Amino acid sequence: MSKPLREPLFKTTSFVFHSFREMQAALYGDSKDYFYVRDGHPTLEALEQVLLSCEPADFAWVFSSGMSAISTGLFALLSQGDHVVVQKEIYGPTRLLFEEYLPSFGVSCTFTDVNDVDALEESITPDTELIYLEMPAPFTLTCPPLEQIKGLADKYQVSVMVDNSAGFGYEKITPFADLVAISLSKYPAGDSGILGGALLGCEGWKEPVEMARSTLGGIMMPWDANALIGEMESMRQRLEVIRSNVYQLQSMLSAHPMVKEVYYPRDTNGKSVKMGGFVTLELNISLLDIARFIDNLSLFQKGVFWGGSIPVVTPLLASYRVEVLESWGLNPGLIRFYVGMESPDRLYADIVSALRSL
Ligand SMILES: *Cc1c(COP(=O)(O)O)cnc(C)c1O
Repeated sequence: MSKPLREPLFKTTSFVFHSFREMQAALYGDSKDYFYVRDGHPTLEALEQVLLSCEPADFAWVFSSGMSAISTGLFALLSQGDHVVVQKEIYGPTRLLFEEYLPSFGVSCTFTDVNDVDALEESITPDTELIYLEMPAPFTLTCPPLEQIKGLADKYQVSVMVDNSAGFGYEKITPFADLVAISLSKYPAGDSGILGGALLGCEGWKEPVEMARSTLGGIMMPWDANALIGEMESMRQRLEVIRSNVYQLQSMLSAHPMVKEVYYPRDTNGKSVKMGGFVTLELNISLLDIARFIDNLSLFQKGVFWGGSIPVVTPLLASYRVEVLESWGLNPGLIRFYVGMESPDRLYADIVSALRSL
């Protein structure tokens, strides 16, 4: 008999049983039978298998969004009285989670420059339970020294969690992290408009993560999982084009006199890391000219999304007020470009022409 080329979609949230005994065994956890989507579903598991072919973890768990994966992971890892050392430059909503939500549950945190391993070590207290990182940092694109940080974490017996949304598919980081979080809404979904997230981790996290996911309820819909499996068939090829585009654009921009500094994914020694579709610029223009420069661009969409074929420009100044950015130690002049799958020559021409018409 022939077989379906594509993973079948089980378009149901629920499963029913033939008998009381069968039902009891499933609900008691004595059998692996499915009963309700929050506790396990074949289409979600098919996507989890695809994710495991990208990262060498023991388990993958999918969620309704990247933020749902991150917050559920933190609920699974942390309890009252715990302290977290958090990377200073992180995704805005994650920062809110640490600043606004977790403190009200008795979890404190210290924002630290994790690229400075000595500073990181000093931030660790006897209550520290977790070091929370993001690869790469969202605007300056630095990649934290995972190997050294993992060494410290082992020394003090604390866990490491890494948001690898922007590095997913490029660098395998599960050897250095207890839990890896990924927004599937970005590279995996491409331009298809699906929201999703995932956690990847080892055997020891299976029970706490699955219990937190089932209880907090941020589960992905099976049809989104099925669509994501389709999108991910071409992800590797897309990532190669995106990476090559960013590399070419970055070297063209480095030579331009109006460019003060080019930020690209790099390690703490300044060595380029082959990752992601971003290049961030600091231009030789005043903050007051940023709005006009952005409006002069024609190929880049103005927005905060990324991960597909469409080029996007995200000026820090449009996301947060100057005082806020300065309080975080971020230069308000930074402008992040996501290259997508557009030709680097055309993107470069667009940036140069936007600068020329200032
Ligand atoms: C988008 C993003 C998230 C959140 O993902 P959603 O799927 O939008 O909830 C988390 N971390 C990073 C680095 C992101 O870019």
